[in-house]
Amino acid sequence: MTDQDEPQREIKVVRGKALNVFFDVDNTLIMWNGHLRNHAHDVFAALKEAGHTIYVWSGVGIRRWDMKRHNLDEFVTDYFVKPLEKHHEKLDALGVPMVPDFVIDDHKTVVDAFGGYHIPDMAHADDDHLIRVLDKINEMATLGDVEEPGEDVPVA
Ligand SMILES: [Mg+2]
Repeated sequence: MTDQDEPQREIKVVRGKALNVFFDVDNTLIMWNGHLRNHAHDVFAALKEAGHTIYVWSGVGIRRWDMKRHNLDEFVTDYFVKPLEKHHEKLDALGVPMVPDFVIDDHKTVVDAFGGYHIPDMAHADDDHLIRVLDKINEMATLGDVEEPGEDVPVA
């Protein structure tokens, strides 16, 4: 499933608040050479297992085929066209039924608009940015657990 020369890393599944996570495609998941960024499959699987919902959006259209080609489609709940400007205002018109909780994008404006992880548009052989994305999401999903123990959050 994963590239054979992809470095192996320990993947953490942390249960907390369920988040709507939106991934960009070009230069975020699929790099300029057509290769999938390191750890994409493991991180998608971990996010699903932790109860998060994964959406994939792109400024150039619906990318279901690209996700199928890289064996990621099974983890993706839906696909949308991504607003390239006036990000919040355009969600409705583009048929995006919720405001993303966390976005991963190589374009800073999208991350500035919704919050998330600004990922570099180039990836070296030992790239581990998707592991860092998972760490950030785990952190966000469990924020407040200690302060608000009465919250309806599943506890392991
Ligand atoms: Mg991009």
